[in-house]
Amino acid sequence: MSDQSPVTHSVDADGVGWLCFDDPGGRANVLNPPVLAALRAAVAALAAQPLKAVVVHSAKEKIFIAGADLKWLAALPDAAAALQLARTGQELFAQLANFKVPVVCAIHGACAGGGYELALACHWRIATDAKETSLGLPEVGLGVIPGWGGCARLPRLIGAQAAVAHLLKAALVPSAAALTAGLVDEVVPAAELKTRAKAMALRLSAEGLPNRAVPAAAPADFFAGQRQTVRSRMRGQPAPLAMLDAVEQGAALSVAAALELEANLFGGVAAGEVAKNLIHVFNLRERGKKLSLDAWFPTEPAAGTPEKFQIVGIIGAGVMGSGIAQWCASRGIGVIMCDADRAAAERGIAVIRGLFKQAEARGSLTPAEAHKMMGGIGVTTTLEDFDMCDLVIEAIVENVEVKQKLYAELSQVMAPGCVFASNTSALPLEDLAAKATNPGRFIGLHFFNPVGRMPLVELVLGKETTRATAERALAFVKSLGKTPVVCRSSPGFLVTRVMFFYLNEACRLWEQGVPTEAIDRALHEWGWPMGPMRLIDEVGVDVTDFIFGEMQHYFPDRFTRTTITQRLLAAGLKGRKNGESAGFYDYTGGKETLNAAAAAFGPAEKIILEPAAIAERLNGVMIDETRRVLAEGVVKTADEADFALLLGAGFPAWRGGLMRYARSIGA
Ligand code: NAD
Repeated sequence: MSDQSPVTHSVDADGVGWLCFDDPGGRANVLNPPVLAALRAAVAALAAQPLKAVVVHSAKEKIFIAGADLKWLAALPDAAAALQLARTGQELFAQLANFKVPVVCAIHGACAGGGYELALACHWRIATDAKETSLGLPEVGLGVIPGWGGCARLPRLIGAQAAVAHLLKAALVPSAAALTAGLVDEVVPAAELKTRAKAMALRLSAEGLPNRAVPAAAPADFFAGQRQTVRSRMRGQPAPLAMLDAVEQGAALSVAAALELEANLFGGVAAGEVAKNLIHVFNLRERGKKLSLDAWFPTEPAAGTPEKFQIVGIIGAGVMGSGIAQWCASRGIGVIMCDADRAAAERGIAVIRGLFKQAEARGSLTPAEAHKMMGGIGVTTTLEDFDMCDLVIEAIVENVEVKQKLYAELSQVMAPGCVFASNTSALPLEDLAAKATNPGRFIGLHFFNPVGRMPLVELVLGKETTRATAERALAFVKSLGKTPVVCRSSPGFLVTRVMFFYLNEACRLWEQGVPTEAIDRALHEWGWPMGPMRLIDEVGVDVTDFIFGEMQHYFPDRFTRTTITQRLLAAGLKGRKNGESAGFYDYTGGKETLNAAAAAFGPAEKIILEPAAIAERLNGVMIDETRRVLAEGVVKTADEADFALLLGAGFPAWRGGLMRYARSIGA
């Protein structure tokens, strides 16, 4: 423990007071009761002295103020405590807003949430152009609203429409974009920050506070439209609606009254279950970044920094192979992609080119960057050059014999140190590794479709996978910007297994006579991005049917396969992917309507079930299967299973995670 206060103050020879955030307890400054107490004391000490102006800054390298301490927020017992927390911060920041001399905020590093609310209370904001500087109000993403003045002050600074857009996006913005948006007044090189901040402080002291234009009010129907969007896109979450109330109603009030309204609305959401769930998910995400393999290799310590892969060979240029190749190339990794079928290889390259074009259109890559990355991919129809690779990822058809045959051929070609991975979605590695010469260097890397959008990769450890192989693969997945979850090899690993037990049960309900729309509406309203029948169309009726077959093969005692997918396939109804346009729904002409041809396969007599009963039954199947996965040691912890299902299956974050939900309902 250090005696140093997290907020110190001093006055220089020119009469400028300095408030410095530098919590001795950590790499970041966060706002919690001791830090707020230190700030209050420092502000009072400066207020008692003759001054011309004040500059607020941080001594940390990468973080100005990371926001309120989430442990503090997560522990709020009730709405009254949350209201009190809001009032405490507001009253303190109001002291800065009403300070007897101008206050300039000098921002270097992340300035998030409460940190940016503090900046908003100051009279001038200067940020550095360093890449670590980003700012904004991400509270809505954590199930709360800015409660220390953000909802009241941001619209007064940049206008209600821009403020609402920023608050709903719930993300920090780099300083250049922050300047354009009006979130800061100036951007300067890091080396000049303090000098410029002091110069501005003295100028405001001499010339008076800036005379800011009052932004235009939002059009009359703006808030109604926003509420409608929020109700459909962020259903189940009270914070975005509370934020809209704060901004809309606050616009007609004095700042003091708008702050009081904001504090009450904060109180109404911050201690609620959704906020606690979203903060929990934030913590899962942070823990995911630090994922280690220690729990999987308890007796074998990690041996230093793993060697990076330089050239990745990808076999199969289909949906997954092309997606993985493009993603690797976009991260600067050299790629050789092989498909036995020349036409498939050409289609794969066309898909990759299309993905780079999309990245250009989004502005995430310049044409020159995209061109260079595209040039990093070689295409072939033979394994000839695969001796150059230090990682090979197999993404060919999901068939044990075909994969085994390929592995036997590859064993003749691969360099001795090469790591070899399969992207199989369900096959246990032991079944595949039978023909691999070195099972210690064999691992599963289960990317999800579409690779560019899905953040999860299941890192699958076979019985013989060595720690060195696993460490290299883990570092590789992290370097791709993907989030790994480690699984022990077992049929379907985690996500495929749990999801296809769920989809099979949805088909069973359907075969019993519950209509497509009733099943889908129930699960969609519960919070899933789409209902299960709609999801089958999206995944492909053929793929679903195939995986049902695999599940039945591996779990013959428990997986009683439904037949509707077979019947749809026989009728040529394959779902929505690959240009197909009919499954449970018809997508012709870009419209989505129920497909009468599919419905005709269902029983004539329909069963009406309450949405809650449908959701309970289908979610219940997932909960049971996840419990089995955990009991079998396929995944180590319920939190990891929850995180994987959030990222890989679209479990609604605001419900906190499947097993957390199960615990909350005593299931
Ligand atoms: P796909 O059918 O789109 O592509 C497979 C490609 O492999 C084809 O182009 C085929 O010509 C090629 N191929 C077949 N045998 C080959 C061989 N011996 N040598 C070289 N090329 C060969 O398949 P996909 O959907 O990309 O799936 C590939 C793998 O990824 C499968 O194991 C699948 O289970 C898994 N997976 C698929 C998805 C998905 O949603 N499609 C998601 C995750 C994992």
